[in-house]
Amino acid sequence: MSDKIPLAGVIGTPIAHSKSPQLHRHWLKTLGLKGDYIPMDVAAQDLEVVLRTLPKAGFVGVNITIPHKEAALEIADLVTDRAILIGAANTLIFRKDGQIHADNTDGYGFIENLKAGAPDWNPTAGPATVLGAGGAARAVLASLLDAGVPEILLTNRTRVRAEKLADDFGKKVSVVDWVQAGNVLEDSALVVNTTSLGMIGKPAMRVPLDGLRAGTIVTDLVYAPLKTDLLAAAEAAGCVAVDGLGMLLHQAVPAFERWFGHRPVVDSATRAAALR
Ligand code: NAP
Repeated sequence: MSDKIPLAGVIGTPIAHSKSPQLHRHWLKTLGLKGDYIPMDVAAQDLEVVLRTLPKAGFVGVNITIPHKEAALEIADLVTDRAILIGAANTLIFRKDGQIHADNTDGYGFIENLKAGAPDWNPTAGPATVLGAGGAARAVLASLLDAGVPEILLTNRTRVRAEKLADDFGKKVSVVDWVQAGNVLEDSALVVNTTSLGMIGKPAMRVPLDGLRAGTIVTDLVYAPLKTDLLAAAEAAGCVAVDGLGMLLHQAVPAFERWFGHRPVVDSATRAAALR
């Protein structure tokens, strides 16, 4: 048995807002494991040297967040298929042989959160509308198609970005003009906001939401505030509303298990710890 305390952490810039340290520390404490999880503010030009040095200081892996997710994928020596598909890494495992293994668990976290918040969700029930075509949208698209969603209507303020994403994911994804976004909600079994609209400090969501109908599942990746205006409108329309915090919690599960050897559970205490 090694006396070394296993360390993990999250690298981004800025990083002070991250909820991951309190989440992983909660799991370490409740599972009675030794270890720690450290937030690290690292500039782009220092990323590679930091990643190559951390294993020598006892780190078993790190999470990667904005703006380093694409660069981390480039630096890694081994990459999972899902990270390649998404084009970004959010989880790195430092192997004993010195190699850096990159994965992306955002899509997994998204689907697990959806299943937990909407247990009756049937992926094949009908089209999904996805608002936004940034980094998070790639993970959402990959995981929805993998889950068996037959058709995705993708809409983004900058249309060309949505078109690029649709090209990458094939015929099941079609682009809808941003000004038409409100018109496709009515026919959607699932609506996902992957834009930053509605987040504290960001502009409000202005897409007309009167097309939402009872029974539609609506989920928002934004979790600050927990109940966004989109989710409030969804509840008022009789939809099943699923907040975005669970995605953050679920995406952390596989990483924690790889680093610390125990699979944590996502429960109400986990949510409370992340919100502290
Ligand atoms: P990103 O790559 O920067 O993409 C931002 C997206 O928001 C783009 O589609 C962008 O459209 C759109 N957008 C921004 N301002 C807008 C405006 N004023 N009007 C219309 N659209 C606007 O960011 P990301 O990494 O995809 O993250 C997106 C959001 O998801 C963030 O709020 C992030 O916190 C959240 N997120 C949550 C989780 C979770 O675990 N719950 C995980 C990942 C991300 P354009 O292309 O036109 O700029």
